[in-house]
Amino acid sequence: MPAIDVRGVRVRLGDVEVLRGVSLRVPRGQMVALIGPNGSGKTTLLRCLLGLQRLDAGEVRLLGEPVGPRVLRRIGYVPQRLPLEPSFALSVREFLALRRPDTRRWFFQRTRATDDVLLRHAPGLGLETLLGRPLSGLSGGQLQRVLIAYSLLGEPELLLLDEPTAGVDTPGEQDFYELIADVHARLGITVVLVSHDLGMVFRRASWVYALNGVICCEGRPEEVMNADSLKAAYGIHVTPYHHHHHHPANGTAPEGGVPIAFHPRR
Ligand code: ADP
Repeated sequence: MPAIDVRGVRVRLGDVEVLRGVSLRVPRGQMVALIGPNGSGKTTLLRCLLGLQRLDAGEVRLLGEPVGPRVLRRIGYVPQRLPLEPSFALSVREFLALRRPDTRRWFFQRTRATDDVLLRHAPGLGLETLLGRPLSGLSGGQLQRVLIAYSLLGEPELLLLDEPTAGVDTPGEQDFYELIADVHARLGITVVLVSHDLGMVFRRASWVYALNGVICCEGRPEEVMNADSLKAAYGIHVTPYHHHHHHPANGTAPEGGVPIAFHPRR
């Protein structure tokens, strides 16, 4: 049973059909990337996965269930950014503690006991030095780490990250993807990274879906990256290409292993 199963999803926003028949299956335990130019529908597709967007057609299933409150409890979501008032007076510890029933009453607990639970369920994020800091005083990269920790505290089976480095400076981006890869390796959960950042994601993702209103191309990063036509996806309309691993009559595999093709829309 796939972690994500999207079939024939269509979404119209105003006059534009933003998603024009999107289908994809994400196997469990993978770290995959969803890429595409601005306006290609990445955020809209994510909203469909989170049950925030009405579908005009099609179906979405997560972990084998239709999208709804029950399955969404098993999903972690990290937003692009969390706009905070500078005067927002909550520490990282207090913010994170709200996520779990066993830490929610932190004011009756010893700090040490709270921290132990938080660090145990969100390991490897460098939270130790952040717990006492005010949430509103963090850098973009630090805040992203806290947001990842917040979703991990819910013990998700599937983690969705929307353009995760949007608020992070360029040197910080590399670390950030390392961090996600580490979380993925450590916890073995399914991770979906939504990004327009090709280079970073490609080094880390096990599979890449390129979106442009439809899934116009998918494959292993090196395959998708090598396809000249990927560039074409950035700027032209495309129709889906269904690849069925048909080998040529002479029995040799197509160059590059997996055929990738873009078909300009007529
Ligand atoms: P991405 O995340 O890939 O940049 P989006 O899913 O945010 O793309 O947006 C896809 C397209 O839908 C864009 O052209 C955007 O302008 C348009 N769009 C987004 N929200 C609305 C809306 N509420 N009404 C009309 N058009 C919208």
